[in-house]
Amino acid sequence: MSLPAEVYDCRTCGACCREAFDVVEVEPEDPFVVERPDLVEETPFLRLTVKRAGPRCACLVGDGPYTCAVYAIRPRPCRDVEPGGEACTFARGRVGLPV
Ligand code: SF4
Ligand code: SF4
Repeated sequence: MSLPAEVYDCRTCGACCREAFDVVEVEPEDPFVVERPDLVEETPFLRLTVKRAGPRCACLVGDGPYTCAVYAIRPRPCRDVEPGGEACTFARGRVGLPV
């Protein structure tokens, strides 16, 4: 049985932008990389990732409610996470939130 859609409120959750995932990998041609190179790190094996601030994405603002400082140009992988979708419920489960 799935939970009501309003449960998946990104502003009160933030799971996929904080501890649920260790890394957000981005492609060189992603507009985010082009516009905000200051927020991109090159890791071994030439992978590009969004900078971290401790266990969370460096672009995440707040501690509930949460917001993304670069929401309008957020990277492709972030756009692909749909509230209530597979990656979302996986992320929420990893931080102990109901799925
Ligand atoms: S895990 Fe789901 S509900 Fe939480 S911030 Fe990400 S997309 Fe939104
Ligand atoms: S760039 Fe924004 S949407 Fe993507 S992980 Fe960071 S805070 Fe979340």
